[in-house]
Amino acid sequence: MVELRTYRHSVAHVMAQAATRLFPEARLAIGPAIAEGFYYDFDLARALLPEDLAAIETEMRKIVSADLPIVRHEVGREEALARFGEAGEKYKVELVRDLPPGEAVSTYTQGEFTDLCAGPHLSRTGEINPEAFKLLSVAGAYWRGDEKRETLQRIYGTAFLTRPELDVHLERLEEAKRRDHRRLGKDLDLFSTSDEVGAGLVLWHPKGGLVRMLIEDFWRREHLRRGYDIVFSPHIAKADLWQTSGHLQWYKDSMYSAMDIDGIDYLVKPMNCPFHILMYRSTSRSYRDLPLRWAELGTVYRYERSGALHGLLRVRGFTQDDAHIFCRPDQLEAELEGVIDLAVFMLKSFGFDRYEMELSLSDPERMEKYAGDPARWREAERVLEAILDRRGEDYVKAPGEAAFYGPKIDIKLIDALDRGWQGPTIQFDFNLPERFDLTYKGDDGLEHRPYMVHRTVLGSMERFMGSLIEHHAGAFPLWLAPVQAKVLPINERNVAYAEEVRGKLGAAGLRAEVDARNEKIGYKIRQAQLEKVPYILVAGDREAEAGTVAVRHRSQGDLGPRSLDDFLVAATAEATLPG
Ligand SMILES: [Zn+2]
Ligand SMILES: [Zn+2]
Repeated sequence: MVELRTYRHSVAHVMAQAATRLFPEARLAIGPAIAEGFYYDFDLARALLPEDLAAIETEMRKIVSADLPIVRHEVGREEALARFGEAGEKYKVELVRDLPPGEAVSTYTQGEFTDLCAGPHLSRTGEINPEAFKLLSVAGAYWRGDEKRETLQRIYGTAFLTRPELDVHLERLEEAKRRDHRRLGKDLDLFSTSDEVGAGLVLWHPKGGLVRMLIEDFWRREHLRRGYDIVFSPHIAKADLWQTSGHLQWYKDSMYSAMDIDGIDYLVKPMNCPFHILMYRSTSRSYRDLPLRWAELGTVYRYERSGALHGLLRVRGFTQDDAHIFCRPDQLEAELEGVIDLAVFMLKSFGFDRYEMELSLSDPERMEKYAGDPARWREAERVLEAILDRRGEDYVKAPGEAAFYGPKIDIKLIDALDRGWQGPTIQFDFNLPERFDLTYKGDDGLEHRPYMVHRTVLGSMERFMGSLIEHHAGAFPLWLAPVQAKVLPINERNVAYAEEVRGKLGAAGLRAEVDARNEKIGYKIRQAQLEKVPYILVAGDREAEAGTVAVRHRSQGDLGPRSLDDFLVAATAEATLPG
């Protein structure tokens, strides 16, 4: 059985060969297999068009049917440099130069085409199914991902062993496009970004703002219920604070430049942690004060390359649903259990029933590279594993993947299209309590270091909103829908009754609007459906007379006439907050 990555990488080579036949002036960069297919980067003066992709595909089928052998050669470094140099393949020359001296250089050749490549590959081009690959799109890319370097054109494609697998995949891509939060964000008028504001900075429109407020209110309610306190902290702080916290040493590249206030440098916060730590230190703490669970919807700013920005998912300013827990060793287990419980509860409340967990641990062979006391690391890791095991969670252990300051759990949400989204993280910290010398007085009268855990249960409001839009395809559950019901009078005579219905819905705590425009009822229904309004209530002469509404549900369709009271009872029950 051929490995799919190898197969796709061979298809990428066939694509590069086909492209260089059609565009001999194209220079080749790199072309790896990726999670769902492959790409190849080309340096080509003329912009590639959709019809070029069709022509490249046709040429690829010729290469496949020619059944060329794919042959690996080991070559000397000098020989490789000379060969790619003569061919004008400057990117390949740069790649060879960057290989560690002494490392074998290998090439793969099929017909007239040779590529610098570590392999492995199929043994013949004829092993590729000519009916089961597709070139999907062209995008700009920088050589080596560096915006100061050359701009390249990246052709994305995908390939499978069989045609039905390709068809399923293409249908899924279409569905993903329909659910794209950037498109739905615009169609449903939830949010926007503007060049005049700057890339990666989100404007939340009234409807998106309302959804966000509902998420935040729910989040606050749940935190207060679980013994958290809500805190607030400023957006900027003196550079000295970020020096003490270590951010200026290990996080500087993600931080924006300083602003001068009264001759002192201030920096915009990339994280909320130092503020909560200073609150901890604002008074002396006793073992009786712990645990402290301090939560903040803290807006932070982090630099992201412009090429990496993506809708709500990768932004430059975002609000973390952050919290820090300070506790004693004997409280560790209960605290972490509480966090995992909260994280899972939150995900399920928003309709994410499936998730994956990863536990990042230290590398026991190299404990010298980690901050803090190795005994505390062992204890933290033991507790994390014990809790996950006890809960029966399915999780992947990643030894050596922990950050230098502590082990962590990452939870990935799995959406309706089986895609993973970064969600909650629970991160130990053995570094900041040392740097800020956090202590509490124990029952033995001595000063002890508290355990500190950073955690988010949604991630950020922006990213979570993006995943929520795509997971539900914009059709938010009733409790989150910005407009829960739309009342549609059939004609002018019914407007007063429609307003009366809306008033009663409002009094029952439901968010409703009347569409009183002088339009055909069919048009108004279609419009409300496009807006993904959960309930459409049609109000004509008959309904006005009988005190009923004709109910249509956005996915269940026509539910027939209901008395207004019956509808109110059912809808308010459905709109109740989870938990
Ligand atoms: Zn290759
Ligand atoms: Zn933190």
